[in-house]
Amino acid sequence: MAYKISDACVNCGACEAECSSNAISEKDGKRWIDPDKCVDCGGCTAACPVEAIAQ
Ligand code: SF4
Ligand code: SF4
Repeated sequence: MAYKISDACVNCGACEAECSSNAISEKDGKRWIDPDKCVDCGGCTAACPVEAIAQ
């Protein structure tokens, strides 16, 4: 199951820099995780200052 970004996202971009799968991109003023690209590594979760990323 891919990770997801909640509405708490403030679009800082920190998670995108952490994702080696290029699964994170900008969408409607927030970041979004493409479930087809996410490999469930969890690497992005620690980078988020508002804990918006969860599985
Ligand atoms: S869990 Fe890993 S692969 Fe998925 S979006 Fe986060 S850093 Fe990228
Ligand atoms: S690190 Fe958190 S707040 Fe920043 S863009 Fe990613 S999900 Fe949004």
